[in-house]
This record gives sequence, C-alpha cells and structure tokens, in this order.
Amino acid sequence: MSDHSIFPHNRPSHTKIVATVGPASDPEEMLEALIRAGVDVFRLNMAHGGIAQAQARLDRIRKVSRKLGTTVGVLVDLAGPKMRLCEIPEGVYQCRQEQPMTFVRGNAATASDTFTTTYEPLIDDVNVGDRIMLADGTIALEVAEKRQDAIVCRVMQGGPVRSRQGVNLPHTKLSIRTLQPADIENAKWAATAGVDFLGLSFVRKPDDIFELREILVEAGHTQTGQWGNIPHIIAKIEKPEAVAAIEDIVDAADGIMVARGDLGVEFDIAQIAVVQKKIIETCRRKAKPVIVATQMLESMHHQTLPTRAEATDVANAILDGTDACMLSGETAVGEYPVLTVEMMHRIAMETEVLLKERYEKEPPLRKKTLSVTSAVCDAAVSVADETDAKMILVGTRSGRTALMVSNRRSFTFCAAASSNINALRRMNLYWGVFPLLDVPVDSANCLAQVTASGKESGVISHGDRIVHILGISADSNHQNVLHVHLVE
Ligand code: PEP
Repeated sequence: MSDHSIFPHNRPSHTKIVATVGPASDPEEMLEALIRAGVDVFRLNMAHGGIAQAQARLDRIRKVSRKLGTTVGVLVDLAGPKMRLCEIPEGVYQCRQEQPMTFVRGNAATASDTFTTTYEPLIDDVNVGDRIMLADGTIALEVAEKRQDAIVCRVMQGGPVRSRQGVNLPHTKLSIRTLQPADIENAKWAATAGVDFLGLSFVRKPDDIFELREILVEAGHTQTGQWGNIPHIIAKIEKPEAVAAIEDIVDAADGIMVARGDLGVEFDIAQIAVVQKKIIETCRRKAKPVIVATQMLESMHHQTLPTRAEATDVANAILDGTDACMLSGETAVGEYPVLTVEMMHRIAMETEVLLKERYEKEPPLRKKTLSVTSAVCDAAVSVADETDAKMILVGTRSGRTALMVSNRRSFTFCAAASSNINALRRMNLYWGVFPLLDVPVDSANCLAQVTASGKESGVISHGDRIVHILGISADSNHQNVLHVHLVE
C-alpha cells in the first residue's frame, strides 16, 4: 500500500473487515497498522463517547487514509434505545431464585431490593409473563405481578447484577421510538461530517430506517434515489421483532448488521447460528451487504491466538456468505488490535479457498432480471470467469454496479472507479470489490490508468484480459456496455 499504486500491495481478502476504534486503536500509527493489516471500514461506537471524540477519531482516520492513499470507510454506530439499570445502592446485587425483584418508576431506588432502569416506560410496557434479561443475558427474570407503579419479577436464572448493566426485553412491544434524540443529533453530525455508514441499533421495522433517512434529507443532505450522499444506513438486527420483519427491513436498509451481542440476549442463544444464517441468506438474495458482528475473536482481547471455536466462527460466517466480519472490543480496548485483524484476515484468506472451490464447482444460477445493469453484470462475471480474465473493471457513480458484481461472488478481482468519494468509501464494505482512488471514470482514461498502474504493481501483465463494464446510454442510469480488453 503506498501513495503511488492504486492497487493494494498486500493480498486483500474478498471478505471485508470492520474494526471498532477505541483507546487501543486511537493513535495514528495504530490506525495505519490496522489498515495495513486489512481493515476496510472503521466503526465509531456512539454508545461510548460523544461527538467531539468521534470527530477527532474521524479526522485521524481520514488523515491516515489520505497518507496511505486508501479509501477506508467509516461507520458511525448510533446507540438507539439501549436500556440499562440505574445505580444499585451497593453497586452489586445478588439475584436469587427465592427472592423476587421489584422494579419501580424513576431513576433512584428507594430500598435495597428495588431497582430502577433508564427505560422510563418499563412498568407500562411489560405484561405479566414477559421476560426481563439483565447483565448481557446472564440473569433472566419473569414478570409475576404488575401494579400501578411497580412490577414484581420472579428470578428464573440468578447471579450477580451491577449498576448500569444492560436490560433487554425480548418479547415486550416497546412504546419508545427507535431513534432517540441523541441518535438524531449524532446522525446529523455524522452526515455533515461525511461519514459513510450509519448503524441503527434496535431496529424493529422498516419505518425506523425511513425515518432516519427522512431526518437527514430534511436536514439538507442529498439523496438521489437510494444512492445519494447521505450515509448508507446499516440496520442492526438485534430484536426478535426485527427478525420477524427481516424481508422488509433488508429492502428498506442499505445494509444489515447481525448484531449478535444483543441478539444473543433477546433470543435463546441456542438459536443464534440459525438466525444468523437466515439473515445472511436474506441479504444475499436481496443483494444487500451484511456484516456479522460481536465476539468473533473475543479471546484476542488478552490472548495472541483465538480459540478454535472463534476461528471456526469467523470461517463459518464467511461460508454463510457474509460480506464483512466485525471486531468490537478486540480492536477498541484489546491488547492486540493488529494481531487480531491479521488473524481475521488470515482466516478469511484460508476460508476463501473453499469458497472459491464451491463457486467453481457450482457457479450461482443467473436469475432473470428486468434490469439492464444487472444483466450486464451477470454477463461480465460470466465472461470474466470463462476467459480467466484478470480483472472486472467497473466505472460507477454510486457504487451500485460494484455491489451487483459483488453479489455474484465471482473470484475475479473487481476494481471500481468512481468520481464520487462517498461511493468509493462505501464500496469498502462490498465483498470482493476494491475501490480505486483518483482513477478517472471515462472509459479510455480509466482503462489506460488501470493498465499502467496494474502493470507497474504486478497485478496485470501483457496478454491479460480486463472485462470493463461501462455505460454509454442516453439514460445514464444504466450500464450497457461490456468491453473485453486485451492488455498489450
Ligand atoms: C451488538 O449488539 O452485537 C452490537 C454490535 O451492538 P452494540 O455494540 O451497540 O451493543
């Protein structure tokens, strides 16, 4: 990776890597090392720290990215209506099966065995029989009695619970809006700051996504169809309600995150693998990028190697068809951020050998489509595969054509040029797509620069074929030309 070549020097995996930034990854040298190790998108988690901290992190990422000549993307993750316990008088309370727990209104408990939460409508929203999960799902309660100003819960699974730990209500219909005032403020900042993706937590229905997009458009951000310059919205799937509405949510969002932290609390953990597979399958069918998140290489917080189960988890997510795998605390507060990214990259490279074998044995069926661009992408992938082309080259305004090529999951290197920097950054999330910075999109110049630079960096040689997708129709919304170029 250098200021001169438009192609990455290290062999990038087709699977993209999202890494969360935190104190462990704040220094510029660390961000640089993480990009070199394979990070495609950095995540800024608004659940920790405010706008000033996020802006400083964004500035550092953009600075390092410019220095390295890359287009690394940035995802700002909005916290949404995350519920927590308020202060517990002694700081910790031992929940026991024989001892009921009482929740009261307000944010300060009045007795040592009563509790309050940050979720004001808790007592109104829950019904007798509902579950309340505490402390990352380690404690399970069932609502036994509902009074005017209190609920009494039976402890189904006990253990210690501490002040400020998380509260989840898996089966309760929440009356609160998904977008909280802080999320709206953070989203407006992120859009103005030119962030590439917005993660929307605790999505329950497509309207949550439409509402966020509308707020950004009303705030003056541009939207051309679904592909404008407002950040792309990544719906975080973490509630059973969202899983039930997954078809419509995938249609409404620009991408999906399988947010297994809260999902693993809201669902019986025994169901998580199946839920993950169904969400990924839906995203693949609807050609939307998908990220698998949380505890992927968890033990690398403090160890230099993952467990066998973690390494297998990353590989299985890739075999399921995910576009990206995400690291959370591992890169935000862990001891070995770079080693962790390198490990994820290595697992991806090894796993993709099997993915490629499967693809070659059984290429995906082409579906009938009424979209000219989609049909041209099918043809491009087919021609590239059949002629052993070195590269599929895409000129794209919004990144949409690159996403269509990505969705075909061909292993031919797909390079994408765009005059739109937002589109280039967003393409970092698309499986197997490599955005080309500062490459002209007009066909002759694009091909000339890619060929020259590709030869220089050893990616392309004399006699190679490049399959170039471009559009010359009067209606500039279509890509309608497929040019098979022989490198001289
Ligand atoms: C998750 O729940 O897995 C997740 C990624 O969201 P958060 O980090 O906001 O809990």
